[in-house]
Amino acid sequence: MDLPYTESYRIKMVEEIYQSTPSEREQWIEEKEFNLFNLESQKVFIDLLTDSGTGAMSDKQWSEMMTGDESYAGSRSFHQLKETVQKLTGFRHLLPTHQGRAAENVLFSALVKEGHIVPGNSHFDTTKGHIEFRKAHAVDCTIDEAFDSQIIHPFKGNIDLSKLEKAYQEHGKEKIPFTLITVTCNTSGGQPVSIENIREVKALSDHYQIPVFFDGARFAENAYFIKEREVEFADWSIKAIVREMFSYGDGMTMSAKKDGLVNIGGFIALNSEELYKECGNFGIIYEGYLSYGGLAGRDLAALAQGLHEATEYPYLKARIGQIEYLGNQLLAYGIPIQQPIGGHAIFIDALRFLPHVPREEFPAQTLGIELYKEAGIRGVEIGTILADRDPETRENRYPKLELLRLAIPRRTYLQSHMDYIAVALKNIFDRRELIKTGYEITWESPILRHFTVKLKKKKK
Ligand SMILES: *Cc1c(COP(=O)(O)O)cnc(C)c1O
Repeated sequence: MDLPYTESYRIKMVEEIYQSTPSEREQWIEEKEFNLFNLESQKVFIDLLTDSGTGAMSDKQWSEMMTGDESYAGSRSFHQLKETVQKLTGFRHLLPTHQGRAAENVLFSALVKEGHIVPGNSHFDTTKGHIEFRKAHAVDCTIDEAFDSQIIHPFKGNIDLSKLEKAYQEHGKEKIPFTLITVTCNTSGGQPVSIENIREVKALSDHYQIPVFFDGARFAENAYFIKEREVEFADWSIKAIVREMFSYGDGMTMSAKKDGLVNIGGFIALNSEELYKECGNFGIIYEGYLSYGGLAGRDLAALAQGLHEATEYPYLKARIGQIEYLGNQLLAYGIPIQQPIGGHAIFIDALRFLPHVPREEFPAQTLGIELYKEAGIRGVEIGTILADRDPETRENRYPKLELLRLAIPRRTYLQSHMDYIAVALKNIFDRRELIKTGYEITWESPILRHFTVKLKKKKK
């Protein structure tokens, strides 16, 4: 018998979490006008709002926090991080930033101008925001398979080369500062990109003389999927795959709150000395001096150690194994989830789960509220509330999919928590026929309404 996946660590320190009662939760969520963002975290038992900055650091990372060098310039901790990033990615220059979107802000300040086009695979929302803020456009070239939650494809984050070539032919290198490959592709559900695809994107981009950059937030999880699913790399170490992956790029932005295994941090890594200098000017204005970029020395040191741990096979096997474990339990209960199961989250298909709740009553939000009331679990709606209104007609924009995302923090919850989540969802699934009404909006802000929206239960 194959040995099952297990956590690759044991526990040295614990944090108590409060297990509330159904009637407490009923009252709390009503007080917060049915917006899960408004709940204080102490009122949440298992918090699956995001996997960003919510993971647990190791004993080695905490010891780095104690010995970090807080020198303004030339800090030892900076050099420790720079050496780690150079070894891991092959990129020569490093600029720390306080998080991923700050790295985008600095890099795009140097590269993205009005009227530019940035092709890629479903850009993350802050990435898109930083592109559109500069009056440029993000063009989504993801393969079509990514947009059907039931199609099984090993690399649903891949870029469609004919879509990419079309963009290259239409706009050329004058209008396209770079192509951005996001690994794993967060927006399409934590789906990986293959080395084969990365090589093809690189060859095509070389032909059109367009640089390739990576958004590397979940680069280690992507490397794990490559090892598991791309035959050529079955015997490679994760670190060797990471090096191979980045060898096809000119640089990267990184949200270290994901695969950096830290609670805050980010960076830009790149090869061109000239671009490094240009980014450095923006970095100094926006983030801080070149060797700390908005972070403390101890943060840099903990990140160096975190990058090392995140690219170890046993850690990744436990990480991805935990998400697969939860996903497989939900599938066994017949619960409709996005497939194949991605790297950092489970996405529940709310239109299939709650077919009686009309779309204008927000089925994914309704399911999120039910899950909180049932068991104190907080997920996040990736549906109509998030998609917001059309800026011109002010009508609701209905996205293709109405999803409840359960993002799993790294090294934070145990297998019994996964069992608990699965049973909570099964209980709701068993009584789904009784859930016929959703919610209506009583107040919303003109932009990014999901964070602050107020709702009330729709009357039958
Ligand atoms: C989280 C994330 C970002 C932004 O990073 P922050 O650290 O949250 O600013 C960018 N790209 C991807 C793919 C992400 O997941």
